[in-house]
Amino acid sequence: MNYNSTRDKNKVVSASQAIAQGISEEGGLFVPQELPKYSMDDLKAMLETDYRGRAKKIMGDFLSDFTAEEISESVEAAYTAEKFGGENPVPISYIESEDKKMSLLELWHGPTCAFKDMALQILPHLLTKSMKKTCDGKEAVILVATSGDTGKAALEGFKDVEGTKIMVFYPTGGVSPMQKRQMATQKGDNVSVVAIKGNFDDAQTGVKKIFTNSEIKEKLAANNMLFSSANSINWGRLLPQIVYYFSAYCDMVNEGKISLGDSINVCVPTGNFGNILASFYAMNMGLPVKKFICASNSNNVLTDFIRTGTYDKKRKFYTTISPSMDILVSSNLERLLYHLTDGNADKVAELMNSLNTEGVYSVDEDIKTKLDKYFWGGYCDDENTEKTIGDLYKNENYLADTHTAVAVNVYGQYVKETGDTTPVVIASTASPYKFAKAVLASVTDEILPQDEFSMVDELSAKTKTAVPTPLASLKDAKERFSLVCEADEMPKVVIESLGI
Ligand SMILES: *Cc1c(COP(=O)(O)O)cnc(C)c1O
Repeated sequence: MNYNSTRDKNKVVSASQAIAQGISEEGGLFVPQELPKYSMDDLKAMLETDYRGRAKKIMGDFLSDFTAEEISESVEAAYTAEKFGGENPVPISYIESEDKKMSLLELWHGPTCAFKDMALQILPHLLTKSMKKTCDGKEAVILVATSGDTGKAALEGFKDVEGTKIMVFYPTGGVSPMQKRQMATQKGDNVSVVAIKGNFDDAQTGVKKIFTNSEIKEKLAANNMLFSSANSINWGRLLPQIVYYFSAYCDMVNEGKISLGDSINVCVPTGNFGNILASFYAMNMGLPVKKFICASNSNNVLTDFIRTGTYDKKRKFYTTISPSMDILVSSNLERLLYHLTDGNADKVAELMNSLNTEGVYSVDEDIKTKLDKYFWGGYCDDENTEKTIGDLYKNENYLADTHTAVAVNVYGQYVKETGDTTPVVIASTASPYKFAKAVLASVTDEILPQDEFSMVDELSAKTKTAVPTPLASLKDAKERFSLVCEADEMPKVVIESLGI
């Protein structure tokens, strides 16, 4: 199976090229030329296997220039029971109240307690194998600018993976105390973490400049190294996410919640549009999904797009208690546009160009009709997010994080407006302990303690739930990284750290 660029139909690359390269030269994203199609018999066969078996089948069908052994190695290394706290990395919690039934697909049992682990635990294995095939086995140097969950998940994924080095830059003021501690205590011989004086944009601009700095690139080449990226538009991050929608469906059948062939809806707390897009791919491959409910926080650019057909990024940016969804440009939406236009790369290039130059684009009637057919958009502000966490805890004894609560709230709006009670899978994307302050404030009226770990302990005591081990162990972990630098010192820091 080969891949095209969303902005240039003549660009054709293999799976390993798509993953090694990350993004196409003209700025387009790589998309599969066709999709594997699964019949009910195929789904039936999947019922018999476990998560890893399903992952091997699905990813193998996409990665046609990988051997079965390479896929198997990658899957077995990524989704171990040890790393994900159990044989099934993505267990489902069922909430069945009088007015609604919800299946919460918990995607946060990995090493960093957020759903990015589902992709970033396997990406390093896919990437190193891709580089062996396409770049003579050069060492991959991964640079990441992060405002939160991605940096830590990338560090954990690439830690001690042979043939890789990873450097993460985060803004001094831009991450939560827990996120900072997660990164500063990172283990591994091939990792480094640097704080940048400035905001997320300064860190990201710095990384982009290094990627295109020809002097540094030559130095790397002379040392048999090559820059690579782990960001969310890489096909190697999207593909692993398709697996858990199939797996959830199989688990629901096996657990007697639905029958094989029944339709489901999917509801996803959305930022960059990767997670929800993975479920859309699953539907196009044969998973019976009726509606995709796209949940946003106050940064509701996607809600407006789905409702009006106009994407307008010229709007106020809100910093919310669900920070991983604080986004005004959802990069993976480009892939959806490509598929909704039946692969019209010229049209997609035109829309993306309009977004870059005017900050806005509108889709035509045909795309809007398809959007309406499949998608429903809604949003939830901080106040209602906290209320939803409080209600879920009080009424259902379920503790949700802020992102998951946005999805639960928007799903409630959807049912109220449409009356559609098709069984729903709601993506639960982070452990509540990752956002302890906002979650604790939602379930108690008492005054909150000052520091992060006291809040974590109090949340655990109050709700009688266990702190996930990876977060609990941070309290006494040794800080390894304390370097703070100016954004314009980043190139120097990279060269020194690589010793080239
Ligand atoms: C990244 C993230 C999201 C958004 O996912 P997208 O694939 O970018 O839409 C939602 N919740 C959490 C906790 C995240 O880390």
